[in-house]
Amino acid sequence: MWTREEKQKIVAYYRRAHIARCPTDRALLTMQDVRTGSEPDDDSTAAFVVYCPTCRQSFMSSTVELPPPGNSPCLD
Ligand SMILES: [Zn+2]
Repeated sequence: MWTREEKQKIVAYYRRAHIARCPTDRALLTMQDVRTGSEPDDDSTAAFVVYCPTCRQSFMSSTVELPPPGNSPCLD
C-alpha cells in the first residue's frame, strides 16, 4: 500500500509535471478527473483519481491534498 506521504508526492508531482509513476513498481499512473472521467487538463486544479494499472492501487487526490491556505471558495 502507498503511504500518505507517497500519495502526497504523487499528487504534487503530477500537478507540476502532468505525469507520475507508481512509487512501488514505477508504472505510469493513470489519472482520471472526477468530473469529466477523462485525463485532467494540464491547468486543472480539480480532484482526480490516481490509479496504477500494475498493482491496482488507487486513491482520490483530494484525500491527501488540502486546499491552498487563504484561498476561499469562489462564490458565483
Ligand atoms: Zn503500482
